[in-house]
Amino acid sequence: MSAIPSAPADAIARHRELCDLVRHHEERYYILDDPEISDAEFDRLLHELERLEAAHPGLVTPHSPTQRVAGRPIDRFESVDHMVPMLSLDNAYSEDELRAFDERVRKGADLRNGSVSYVAELKIDGLSIALTYDGGRLIRGATRGNGTTGEDVTVNVRTIRAIPLTLHGGPVGRVEVRGEVYLPRASFERANREREEAGLPLFANPRNAAAGTMRNLDPALVDRRGLSAFTYQLLSEETSFAHHADTLAALRGWGLPVEPHWRRCEGIGAVVALCAEWADARRTLQFETDGVVIKVDDLALRERLGSTAKFPRWATAFKFPAEQATTALKAIAVNVGRTGAVTPYAVLEPVFLAGSTISMATLHNAEDVARKDLREGDRVLIEKGGDVIPKVVKPMLPHPEGSRPWVMPSMCPACSSALQRDEAEVVWRCENTACPARIRRALEHFASRSAMNIEGLGESLIDALVAQGLVHDFADLYGLTADRLEQLVVVPKDPRSERAKPRKLGKVGRNVAKQLTQSKQHDLARLIYGLGIRHVGEKAAATLARRFRTLERILDTPAEDLQAVPEIGPVVAASVRAFANEPRNRELVERLGAAGVNMQSLSADSSSEPGPLAGRTYVITGTLSSMSREDATAALERLGARVSGSVSKKTTALIAGAEAGSKLEKARQLGVETLDESAFLDLILRA
Ligand SMILES: [Zn+2]
Repeated sequence: MSAIPSAPADAIARHRELCDLVRHHEERYYILDDPEISDAEFDRLLHELERLEAAHPGLVTPHSPTQRVAGRPIDRFESVDHMVPMLSLDNAYSEDELRAFDERVRKGADLRNGSVSYVAELKIDGLSIALTYDGGRLIRGATRGNGTTGEDVTVNVRTIRAIPLTLHGGPVGRVEVRGEVYLPRASFERANREREEAGLPLFANPRNAAAGTMRNLDPALVDRRGLSAFTYQLLSEETSFAHHADTLAALRGWGLPVEPHWRRCEGIGAVVALCAEWADARRTLQFETDGVVIKVDDLALRERLGSTAKFPRWATAFKFPAEQATTALKAIAVNVGRTGAVTPYAVLEPVFLAGSTISMATLHNAEDVARKDLREGDRVLIEKGGDVIPKVVKPMLPHPEGSRPWVMPSMCPACSSALQRDEAEVVWRCENTACPARIRRALEHFASRSAMNIEGLGESLIDALVAQGLVHDFADLYGLTADRLEQLVVVPKDPRSERAKPRKLGKVGRNVAKQLTQSKQHDLARLIYGLGIRHVGEKAAATLARRFRTLERILDTPAEDLQAVPEIGPVVAASVRAFANEPRNRELVERLGAAGVNMQSLSADSSSEPGPLAGRTYVITGTLSSMSREDATAALERLGARVSGSVSKKTTALIAGAEAGSKLEKARQLGVETLDESAFLDLILRA
């Protein structure tokens, strides 16, 4: 690569301004949850910054907000030794234990009378993390590991928008800031919805999901998952404060995320009151908290109190009482999902717990049932955590006499097909695509709000349509007339009512018919999502529709070209191909088309005007220093070029970044032109 020319002064000034602006708005959005501008306005700022950096690659530093996500997965994490061990905290489970903690502190402080000042912080149910800043710049993020040795997860930490890459003000030397990485409730629920769609086992709780995500080797996946963070501790030679409260205020002042509900409490009485208050109020938060951390505020006093081998003496973690109850496990039943995944659930003797009556609980997967050795007939301990769905914690031993370990049924409860299990997966599946249970779930998905949005086509109506043999697939829906629907007899599903009697649909049926007709006009993206192709979520569906314009083109596009679209990965591409290769699916699509369902994209066609690079095909390989490969692909595509995954004679040129490998070799063999990074930047800037 040729030497990078230095940028003109006005570009340098605007670059600095944009970096500050982007960070300011990231802080408003990700830390304060109080944005000042719209997402679109924010995107415009970020794009301006990207364009400026593409034009002046010398401006790009590792700390630019455009550089959060590394271009490609890494091989493994290096281990990191913690200079100061990351201790865990002693726990307190009751008011008595909190008062006993206070006794010990006051004794250590030689305070017979008078009270100690504490700082109480919500305990975040996530993964402990140590961030190192040098000269105000983030240089490392490490997990806690076993307390003395953790893993270097810097590439993943950098993707967390709540964590600043650069501090404002603050220490100039090297400091370590400790805190907790966590998955907000909404991100957790989204992650599990996506896993369900992909037929993968669900995360049991946000903490497991956060820990699993942080250990993923692909920073792009970590970025998408939406982790966040809070910090609460400072280790520094040069900067120290007299009180912990001052430390928290300073961390926030430097741009670091600090959980805002922390309070200074004068004496243990105030701490006890605060713990009681949050035991209920925690449900209103956007993240899981399982307790309150209580720390001595005066750092000199902390010094005097010191630590035991395991815990600091100046802090304790109060754990909220878990909302638990015992009840009878009447049966372990299984549920068949849209992808055929079969998951067990617990049928319980109804029991009242934390505001609602519980008669069912999730059991995650067969392995989980085996690990806990849950048996039908057991008395079981159930728990309602911060999340709404209750879970079965464990059986109350001994098991009833004559009971046996539970085994996954060998046949699908809905269609009696033999259940299959992949070697690599924990999931059992019914592979029968004509399975009525799968069809019901698939129809529910097809009619759902994000898909074809057919109001009124709910569970009980779908049950009736499938049971009466009127509907076998999506296309059959469009053969239903208003008259037929009006006369249809259904059994309403209402768990609160014992008196649910079969009745005719009547006017409701006419309305469903109207909704069905309207749904024919929807955008192609809704149809693609509604088809329920594995791994194709809402976003991928929208991307496919926008790019390829018609369903026919999507189904006729080779995997390689699907994958060349940014946001479409190899898994999605392979899944679309598998769907397209199945003759029954092709036939279904044809029948939907014949019924008048729209098969074209209605969104603005971004590729209607041929760009200056139209008709040319590029392949990108190696690492580009000025932008990620995804951004390079997007830049070329905006100019009308096609970006392909492999070099062939049709390739216009190969764009080779650092450490280009076999593709460079192949291009040479085929006599395909090769562009280095500066020639590539020239190309996109001149075009
Ligand atoms: Zn089945």
